[in-house]
Amino acid sequence: RSTVNVAVLGATGSIGTSTAEVIGHLNRIDPDHAWRLWAASGHNNLDVLETLAGQAGRDGRAPARLIFSDPSSISPETATRRFESLLGEPGGLRFGPDQLVDAARDADVDVVVAAIVGRAGLESTVAAVEAGKRVALANKETLVVAGGLVSEKAAQSDAQLLPVDSEHSAIWQCIAHSPSPAKRLILTASGGPFRSASAAEMREATPDGALAHPTWQMGRKISIDSATMMNKALEIIEARWLFDVSADQIEVMIHPQSIIHSMVEFQDSSVLAQLSPPDMRLPIQYALTHPRRLRCPTPPLDRQQTWDLSLQPVDLDRFPALTLGFEVARVGGTAGAVVNAANEVAVGLFLDGEIRFTDIVPLCQKTLENHTFEQRPGLARLLELDQWARQETRHCAERLSSPPRR
Ligand code: NDP
Ligand code: MG
Repeated sequence: RSTVNVAVLGATGSIGTSTAEVIGHLNRIDPDHAWRLWAASGHNNLDVLETLAGQAGRDGRAPARLIFSDPSSISPETATRRFESLLGEPGGLRFGPDQLVDAARDADVDVVVAAIVGRAGLESTVAAVEAGKRVALANKETLVVAGGLVSEKAAQSDAQLLPVDSEHSAIWQCIAHSPSPAKRLILTASGGPFRSASAAEMREATPDGALAHPTWQMGRKISIDSATMMNKALEIIEARWLFDVSADQIEVMIHPQSIIHSMVEFQDSSVLAQLSPPDMRLPIQYALTHPRRLRCPTPPLDRQQTWDLSLQPVDLDRFPALTLGFEVARVGGTAGAVVNAANEVAVGLFLDGEIRFTDIVPLCQKTLENHTFEQRPGLARLLELDQWARQETRHCAERLSSPPRR
């Protein structure tokens, strides 16, 4: 069996730990390949990194590299004492964000799993694309910030950008069944914890309430994004770039059960859908093994139960994030970088109790309005704008008239 070396960037997060589990599973059941967690990165959750590296060693292949992307989280001496023995070969402890880029490009790496949250995942994802890797993409923010540039680079380098996001995995799986192009992509959305909440209830929402997602267990940032439906807005933009469609070819429907992960409509109005339980191990595994389908740790849907599947149109008045997402997907240029940065800051301010839940999306809109739009920015310009938008959002937040009650 030839070995597939996987670099999991953001290994200590929700997607990262599920990916490490899938790699261990594949290593046991794949008749054709051995699978190795070749590199794993952690930022602050170093206990999790230790557990993952130890488990990989017990599964048979200890990692070649462990990356501490926040060097202030551990000293090299402590890292050596705690982590050196967990490596498959000596000298593989690395410190600082540049090491993410280094691992993403390494000639030994076959697949890069981009599982860092937010704009922090951009450089390493871009590096993997430039190096022509197979990139299993969870970090949707990279496409939101720089979708046009990343698509161009992928075309030049022959990199494969394979979606991990469940909706985009579903669309990808449906598209694969037709030689004719799709007419429309229909993203499903659970509606999050406030699917049926009134505007007044959303105004009083607390961080704990907003973090309590009804169907998915995820990291904090994407959980808040799901509650505002900014996650779906980011996914509209992600779909626009991944599948090279226009904004008006994308629709969103509410599907509270999170079983239908998305749908594709073709010219003849036939609609294909992909169904599976709400468990990220399946789309992660498919991105790793595509086009092969192997047994997955996700249990199958239970045919002894009634499947209660409902689909409803979205309420754009209660979820203005969607309108914003369609607008950004339509105009492209610098809009995605600005909205993404504004949203990252606004989510942080909400989690810190500084702003209301219902301030998040208006702050993104305001920051977008306040910026000078450019149609064809380079990467350096996008990163400058990212910094500008973070500051601008903080300024706008300070001027809000009614902060939350403490
Ligand atoms: P988590 O918050 O659970 O994990 C984030 C990961 O990124 C952790 O490994 C974290 O390290 C690391 N990290 C955080 N900040 C930095 C930084 N500045 N530099 C380098 N690494 C950093 O997030 P999720 O796993 O939920 O999400 C990851 C990505 O996948 C996001 O883009 C999200 O939108 C996307 N996604 C997630 C889904 C899910 O089900 N969770 C579904 C679909 C997409 P540490 O923990 O050590 O601090
Ligand atoms: Mg998703």
